[in-house]
Amino acid sequence: METRRFGPTGRAVAAVGQGTWMMEADPRAAVAALRKGLDLGMTHVDTAEMYGSGRVEEIVGEALAARREGVFLVSKVLPSNASYEGTVRACEQSLARLRTDRLDCYLLHWPGNHALEDTFRAFEKLRKDGKILSYGVSNFDVDEMEKAVRVAGAGNVACNQVLYHVEERAVEHALLPWCEAHGIALVAYSPFGQGKFPSPRSAGGQTLEEIARAHGTTPRRAALAFLLRSPVVFVIPKASQVGHVEENAGASGLELSLPEVAALDRAFPRGEPRPLPTL
Ligand code: NAP
Repeated sequence: METRRFGPTGRAVAAVGQGTWMMEADPRAAVAALRKGLDLGMTHVDTAEMYGSGRVEEIVGEALAARREGVFLVSKVLPSNASYEGTVRACEQSLARLRTDRLDCYLLHWPGNHALEDTFRAFEKLRKDGKILSYGVSNFDVDEMEKAVRVAGAGNVACNQVLYHVEERAVEHALLPWCEAHGIALVAYSPFGQGKFPSPRSAGGQTLEEIARAHGTTPRRAALAFLLRSPVVFVIPKASQVGHVEENAGASGLELSLPEVAALDRAFPRGEPRPLPTL
């Protein structure tokens, strides 16, 4: 599995990780899928207190039991909990559900009403206490990232987790170049459009098929490779079926040629600059 430097943390983190949203639907399948992913080097595991109202963190805790070493574990605090005390409490509850003593990265799930100063002060305390090793944000646009870095100080915001897939490339206009310039990781969530992957009958789907065929691989791997062409990008597809996990892991190391990137650029136009889309 290819690893990349995760922003200012300097940690080498799997480029293709594992999402966990909605994994509460079938806990046994989820545990098996997550463990298969770990076997294949997909050690970047993304979860959140919001998922299944805490149930998903418990499932992740089960999957990681006795396998915590070498995992880059990420969770997120809900904006409604992100006061100073609320953030510290939410993190401790996440740690208990995840059966671990630390998170590798802790994110604010999206911008909310609590002052960022308070949330980040809590993140700093959690870091000082060894309960989190780094922190970042999610669903922040460029102006919000500017503020986050101003509040946290340079080198302290590890990542921004945002919606990014072949059919939703808004981040490429300003946010991705901004993250590249500031050395901040951009983690692409819903990299398969939350299950709405281009049909092989569509023009874009056919372009993916052709490129995949040329590499002896699959359209989904080609789509992930397209997102991973910037060195600051990480992808966290969610798969609760072992076969899907195996397919997704195979995107690691797949390099598209410049003409292939240009063909995908034409097939999935990024459109006009627009505010950061969210789910
Ligand atoms: P996604 O990863 O784009 O798509 C997940 C869907 O794709 C599932 O139905 C899954 O099926 C299917 N799938 C995965 N691999 C496949 C394959 N190789 N072949 C066929 N189908 C495949 O959607 P997502 O869950 O929205 O996003 C990924 C992760 O990003 C989340 O789980 C979560 O951790 C994170 N996220 C963060 C935010 C945020 O606000 N920060 C928002 C959304 C998501 P199976 O499950 O049946 O395998």
